[in-house]
Amino acid sequence: MLIRNATLWDGTGTDPLPHTTIQVEGDTIHWLGPDAQAPAADDGELTVDAGGRWVLPGLIDLHVHITADPRAPDFLGYLYTTPVPDQALMGAYNARLMLEAGFTSVRDLGGIGYANVALKRAIDAGRVPGPRLATCGEFVTVHGGHAHFQLRPEVQPHVPNAISGPDEARRQVREQVRRGADWIKLLATGGVMTGGTALGALLWDDDELLAAVRLARRLGKPVAAHCHGAEGMMACAEAGITTIEHGTMGDTRAAEAMARHGTVLVPTFCAAAGVVREAKAGRLAPAVATQALSIEHTHDAAFRACVAAGVTIASGSDTGVPGTAFGENAQELVHLVAHGFTPAQALLAATRQAATVLGWADRVGTVEPGKLADLIVVEGDPLADISVLADLTHLQLVVKDGAIVADRRPESV
Ligand SMILES: [Zn+2]
Repeated sequence: MLIRNATLWDGTGTDPLPHTTIQVEGDTIHWLGPDAQAPAADDGELTVDAGGRWVLPGLIDLHVHITADPRAPDFLGYLYTTPVPDQALMGAYNARLMLEAGFTSVRDLGGIGYANVALKRAIDAGRVPGPRLATCGEFVTVHGGHAHFQLRPEVQPHVPNAISGPDEARRQVREQVRRGADWIKLLATGGVMTGGTALGALLWDDDELLAAVRLARRLGKPVAAHCHGAEGMMACAEAGITTIEHGTMGDTRAAEAMARHGTVLVPTFCAAAGVVREAKAGRLAPAVATQALSIEHTHDAAFRACVAAGVTIASGSDTGVPGTAFGENAQELVHLVAHGFTPAQALLAATRQAATVLGWADRVGTVEPGKLADLIVVEGDPLADISVLADLTHLQLVVKDGAIVADRRPESV
C-alpha cells in the first residue's frame, strides 16, 4: 500500500511533513519520504491519496476495562454479576469500537474471569478485530479494599484476588502470570466506585506491596497501581511501580517521588469527568457519588504538580467505567489539552510515550520505517484543534498491521 500526499505527524518530535508518501509492505512501514521521490506503485499495490490530510501513528489508550459495560450504572456490580461469557462478548464489541476510532494498541487494566486474556489471544490470532492488547487479567486488591465485592460482611464470597498478607499477594501475582497477564494491576488506595473506601489512604501494608512488586518484576511483569491519594502515590513510586493510575489527589511531594523514581502518571481524566457527571445526574449510589464529587476539585492541581515535577504523562481514559464510552477514547486527549497540555504533548502521551510504557516502542507509537503500520488519516489539523481526533467524521482511515480496518473517506463511499 502507498499512502500519498499526506501531512505526516510521525510522533518522533519533528514538525509535520507535508507532501509525504508512506509505503507499507505487509504489516510494516517500508519507506517514507517526499512524494516526488516516492517509488511507483507495483501492480496490485493499493494507492491511497490522502489529499493533504494528516497521517498520525495509531493511537494508544493505556487504561481501559475492555470487557466492562460503561452503560451499567454500577461498574463493580456488572463485573461481579454478569456471566463471564457475556463479558467476553462485550469485550469483542468494545474492541471493535476502539479500533474503528483509531486506537490500534490498548492496555486493559482489569476485568473478571480472564475474558480479557481470551480476547487478547483472539485478537492476536486475527479471529476478532481489535486493538493490539496488553492486559492485567484480574486486578489484585486487598481484603475489604477497592473492588472487594461488598455483600453483607458475614457473606464471604470467594474473591481470591482480594489478598491479605504477603504470601497471598505473591500467590495472586503468580496466578495472574499463570493466567496470561502481561501486567500486574494493584488497587493500592480506595476507589471512587467502592463507596466507603478511603480514597487517599494506602490500603496495603508495606510487606504486601513490596512482596507483590518485587515478585512481579522478577517475573518480568511491570506493575500498574490504582492510586488516588498522595500517600499511596509515594509508596507506589518508592516500591518501583511503573505507572500510577488516576493520581487525582496527589501533591508536590508525591509528584517529586514519582519524578525521582521515573514513575509514569496516567491521569484518566475521562473517568473522573464521567463519574462526576453521573454523580451530578443522580445515577450513582450516594456513597459512590460523594467520592466522585470529592475528586472534582483536586484532580487538576494534582496533575499539574506532576507535570511541574517532570513526571512523564501517558494517556489512558479508564473507558469502561460509568460516564465513558468505547470509541470515544480520544476524549482523553481533549481533556489533557483542557488541563494545560499542548495538542502535541497530548498526542505524544497517546502515541510514543504510551508505546514506551508498554515496552512496544520498537514496534508502535511512531511512523518510521521498520515499525508496524498502525496509522490513522485525519481530516483537519489536530495540532490546531485536538478535538478532530474525537470526531469519527474527521477520522477517515484506520490502518492496523498494514490492513485498512475502518474507511470513512468520502471518496470511498
Ligand atoms: Zn480503571
